[in-house]
Amino acid sequence: MALRGVVAMDGPSGTGKSTVSRRLAQACSAAYLDTGAMYRAATLAVLRAGLGDDAPAAELARVATAASIESGTDPSAPTITLDGADVSAEIRGPEVTALVSAVSAVPEVRTELVARQHALIRAAVDGGGGIVVEGRDIGTVVVPEAPLKVYLTASPEVRAARRGRQDARAGRESDLHRTLADVERRDRLDSSRRVSPLYAAADALVLDTDLLSADAVLARLRELVAERGLGG
Ligand code: C5P
Repeated sequence: MALRGVVAMDGPSGTGKSTVSRRLAQACSAAYLDTGAMYRAATLAVLRAGLGDDAPAAELARVATAASIESGTDPSAPTITLDGADVSAEIRGPEVTALVSAVSAVPEVRTELVARQHALIRAAVDGGGGIVVEGRDIGTVVVPEAPLKVYLTASPEVRAARRGRQDARAGRESDLHRTLADVERRDRLDSSRRVSPLYAAADALVLDTDLLSADAVLARLRELVAERGLGG
């Protein structure tokens, strides 16, 4: 089954969003865009410039909007580079995770990265193809006209446990209490920011993944793609 158009996948961290978004794109021979990776790469640029969350927003904006970031859209091998070097692993580290919500709350940063996201999405869709785009504001701000919007949720405890397993697989040290505190802190910051806060679009299908496996979520998404006539 091929995909036509955009599938918007939103929700907080640890809901399994990346796994199912990538797998859906692969199953539908579609492109895949991880917008969180773009905010993380911009945050890495901020850290490399020696700035932290005590820096003035204008400074954060200046560095983050000038960052040279390339996002690959192949779901089989998602890549992200900063200044020409692959930073896929570095952007998942604790320093970036601690600062990313502050950087992504700066309006100028969002305006710039959303413009870059629009260009990548247009490139995928213009030739009649499809793209699965994951983030926090895809269905509400980036592509409000998307024909299929999904919002994944799960309890903070389940999401922290998933993050912990991901860290272990990637060889990163983690501690469940700290991960849970980080999940709750980012939820709070991402949901309460003034520009593009995290919430489910009114027309999004909300799926609670506490009791749903990735396979079950993927099966439901494939049904939805077919039901909405988005499969080719
Ligand atoms: O998805 P991931 O956990 O990698 O996203 C990292 C952070 O990037 C989020 O906590 C949020 O602050 C920011 N983000 C955002 N808008 C998006 C995607 C991610 O603000 N569309």
